[in-house]
Amino acid sequence: MQGMALRLLHRRYTLPFRAPVRTAHGMWAERAGVIVRLEDEGGRVGYGEAAPIPWFGTETIEEAEAALNVLGEWVTPEQLAAVPAELRCLRFALAGALAEFGEDERRIADNAPYLPVAALLAAGRGALTQIASKVELGFRTFKWKVGVGDIGDELALLDDVIGELPSGSKLRLDANGAWDRRQAERWLERAAERPIEFVEQPIAPDARAADDVLRGLAGDFPTPIALDESLVGAHDVERWLAAAWPGIFVIKPALLGDPVPVLARLAEAKADVVFSSALETAVGAKAALELAFAWRGKLRALGFGVWPLFNMSVFDGPFGAPFIRSEDVERLNPEAAWTALS
Ligand code: MG
Repeated sequence: MQGMALRLLHRRYTLPFRAPVRTAHGMWAERAGVIVRLEDEGGRVGYGEAAPIPWFGTETIEEAEAALNVLGEWVTPEQLAAVPAELRCLRFALAGALAEFGEDERRIADNAPYLPVAALLAAGRGALTQIASKVELGFRTFKWKVGVGDIGDELALLDDVIGELPSGSKLRLDANGAWDRRQAERWLERAAERPIEFVEQPIAPDARAADDVLRGLAGDFPTPIALDESLVGAHDVERWLAAAWPGIFVIKPALLGDPVPVLARLAEAKADVVFSSALETAVGAKAALELAFAWRGKLRALGFGVWPLFNMSVFDGPFGAPFIRSEDVERLNPEAAWTALS
């Protein structure tokens, strides 16, 4: 592939979410990103998606677009490999598009016909009315957003939420960094004898001494702690691996840069990984899910219970089922998404 000329095109998208997404930084109404299209001299085409989340420590769309404009329309794989590591989402997009041509280890490594998916529950009391229908569909792993309302109210609701779950179910709690240490301790005490699979990001990554607090909590309580916002790109993964983090790594491949080496490091360290959506479109999700299917470590339910996210189904991934099948992933059609943006 060396020296090969590739034609690089890109299209920006702005897609309103069907329902605004609540984040620690306020309501998020629309997703914006860039789809890239690479074509080689033989007419083979690969697509990729850069779906930045700047408050997650990624580049902005403008930065990704500016770098694409500098690259221009004709590029070599060497030029693509030289895109700076800080442009994580763009690197993920280009790596995904290039993977379509090449060795295609991702599909060869495909080792499961389907993977379970965690059902997303609304924050607060809203969760209670959602559980029954998701149980009916077959979901057995649930994720509840916490740290949104008053801590006393949410703690009081926990047993009501658990009470709605069939036996053998698991509940993930995602605080998105909303708590301080004392609040996190109250939750982890409460979680201890309950079917809580893990508590995700109890402390914000930019809180004072956040890494020490997270390590302390992981040592003091039996419920595993998952890092999400604390992991932005390969250097954070390396840092937590070096610190022998005993908990879970929530991996949003779309924010990782070139994901293959990072995942290889995690696999080598036998890390406990949850693959998760960055609310990207079907283009980026296809690449992310292929990586999840290629993962050979312990499998936890995917954090891809997010769709339908958009009004046009061509941008959505598979939804409504407690499992994603590898054939559902292969059926995702990046070309249709690209065409819809013309
Ligand atoms: Mg999270």
